[in-house]
Parts: sequence; C-alpha cells; structure tokens
Amino acid sequence: MALPNIDASKLTKTLTTHPKEVKGQKDMVFGKNFTDHMLCIKYTEEGGWGAPEIKPYGPLEIDPASFALNYSVQTFEGMKAYRSANGTVNLFRPQKNMQRLSTSSRRIMLPEFDQEQFLQCIKELVRVDERFVPSDYGYSLYIRPNFIGTEGNLNLQYSREAMLYVYLSPVGPYFPRTVKLHANTKEVRAWPGGVGNYKLGGNYAPALRPAMEVVSKGYDQILWLLGDDHYVTEVGTMNFFIYWINSDGEKELVTAPLDGIILPGVTRDSLLELARKWGEFKVSERKVTMPEILVALEENRMLEAFGAGTACVVCSVSEVLYNDKTYQIPVDPSNPNAVFGPMTMRLRKELLDIQYAKTPSPWSVPI
Ligand code: PMP
Repeated sequence: MALPNIDASKLTKTLTTHPKEVKGQKDMVFGKNFTDHMLCIKYTEEGGWGAPEIKPYGPLEIDPASFALNYSVQTFEGMKAYRSANGTVNLFRPQKNMQRLSTSSRRIMLPEFDQEQFLQCIKELVRVDERFVPSDYGYSLYIRPNFIGTEGNLNLQYSREAMLYVYLSPVGPYFPRTVKLHANTKEVRAWPGGVGNYKLGGNYAPALRPAMEVVSKGYDQILWLLGDDHYVTEVGTMNFFIYWINSDGEKELVTAPLDGIILPGVTRDSLLELARKWGEFKVSERKVTMPEILVALEENRMLEAFGAGTACVVCSVSEVLYNDKTYQIPVDPSNPNAVFGPMTMRLRKELLDIQYAKTPSPWSVPI
C-alpha cells in the first residue's frame, strides 16, 4: 500500500496567543521580521507524510546529528504573495517554485512530495497570516519553504526522515537603486557537472566570504564568471540580463542558458516570456563572455544590464569592476538619476502589474 502523501485536508492549526504587531513599512528590512505562524510537515520512511501543521512561529527541535545540520541536506525556495489594489492576495507562478523544490530535493535524496497539496497548505498559511501582507506597490510577503533531512545519522546514506516547513516575512523593495558589481575572477559559484542549478543551501554558504569581500570594497554583488573565457553566469543571487546591440548589429535581450550552471529563476523565465511576446527584438538564452561585454562597451553597443530575481524583481547594473578596471554600464542616458534603465523599467512594470493583479494573468494565483 502506498504511504500517505501530503494531504492539505488533514491540516491542523494551533494559533498564537501572542499576535505580533504588523510593522510599518520603513521597518520592513528584507528577511528580518517574521509573521505569527509557520507550516511544518514531517516525513518518515515508514509512515510517509504526516498531517500538515500550522503553529506559532518559533524554534525547531532538531537532532544535532541530523543530515541537514551535518551534510547540508537542505533545499529551499523563495516566492512572494502580493496584495492587489482591491485587497486580494495572489502568489506569482507558485507551481514553478514547487517544481524547482522537487527537482532540488531529488538531487539530495529527499523524499517525493505532492506539490499541489503542499501549495494548498502554503496558501492556508498565507491566509492565516494575511494581515501581514503589505498593501503598497513594491511591498510583498516573502514566502520561504525549506526542505531538510532530519534523521540523526552520521552514516552518509540518505535521510529517512525529513521535514518541509514554511515561514513568511513581510518585505519592501530590495534594491531601490542601481547596483555595482565586482566580477569574480578567483572563485566560481558553480561548475559543469555541479549543482548550481539546484537551490541547495550548500551553494550559498561558500559564496558568503567572496560576497562579504566585495561588500567591504563598496560593491553590492558578485558577478559570477566561469571558465578561462570568463563566461558571465549570474549576479549574486540573481540571474543576469544584458540588453544590447549584439555583434551582428541586432537589438537583443540575452541571458545565460539553462546549462546546469545557473539557477533557473522564475523571474528569468517570466521576463524571457514577456519579451518574446512583445516580439520587438531578439531574445536569447546563450553564453556571453566578459571580453564580449568589454567590446560592446567600447563600441557603445551596451544599452542596459540588470539582475533579475524574486527578491528585487529587477535591478539595473551601473558599474562593473573587472580585472581591476571599472566599467560604467549605461542605465538611462536621458536621466542621470535613473534607478532603472528604460527596458529594465518596462519589464519591471509589466511583471509587477501581473504580480499585483493589475494585469489579469494565469501567473497570478489567488490564495
Ligand atoms: N540565482 C540565484 C543563485 C538565486 O538564489 C536566485 C533567487 N532564487 C535567482 C537566481 C533568481 O531566481 P528567482 O527568479 O526564482 O527568484
């Protein structure tokens, strides 16, 4: 007989007796404040998935010898709930995050889970803490699903116990300014045959020291390169896009391909689809190298560059340090104070309008 999978109809709720105050918008620092409740769903190999539980946000009890704490058997997601002008709350393409979580978890031998039932439980958590979903444009409720191996066993096999848990954090605009990048020619984030395309916690810890180094030098994020030809892969925790006139003289929006090196961003996928629907210029997923970018800058063919991800949506890049030289990237030549380039702004607006349900779209999923 098949073991039980996640069943949203079995969800139990224990509500907090100490509801938190909803913070004002100026206090919504990214990822520091959490709502009243969290969702936990436990798995054992003998019993399958247990009943989902919504309970007050608080510390987890976990075996010190667990796979998660010793061998990084941990994967996570990042998605958001947005409040529309008429008050409804919607998730943005949440099935994409469920699929990516499932792909990531298979890579580290965590058990299969019913994506649709898990999503139903997440929606219920958001409904329970709906008062924390901010109402202003640019603000949202960040949703962080985690999936960890909880079995206490130092024997490197696979975790026979696991837990999915989800918590929520109200957030404001991530980078309300242009960003300065420091290209990294020393370390790499991911490599062929590696795990850069999975959202594993283990990919993020080794990026911390290089990231803090560039911050201490006054840069915002790392531009991750790969290989002797300095293939441009990603920016910090965002996918990287260039809008330029390519070497064939065509206007082109280009980003790295899904070749196992980069994280398949939901924002990346959405922007590509929007730009392809416009049909106004070439849209490509292909490798671009740092030397190609330098030639484009030299020949004034670079129009805009931006990072794209759930946290920031898009943010324009104004400067790149590469091999000890600083290169200015155009943002908006008609406005020296612009925070977004015109194409970046247009993509951003179109995406935000869908996220905030101003533009009706199947990508916007009511809770
Ligand atoms: N690359 C990395 C390494 C990331 O951590 C993220 C954030 N999840 C992204 C890209 C952007 O992905 P998404 O658009 O799904 O947020």
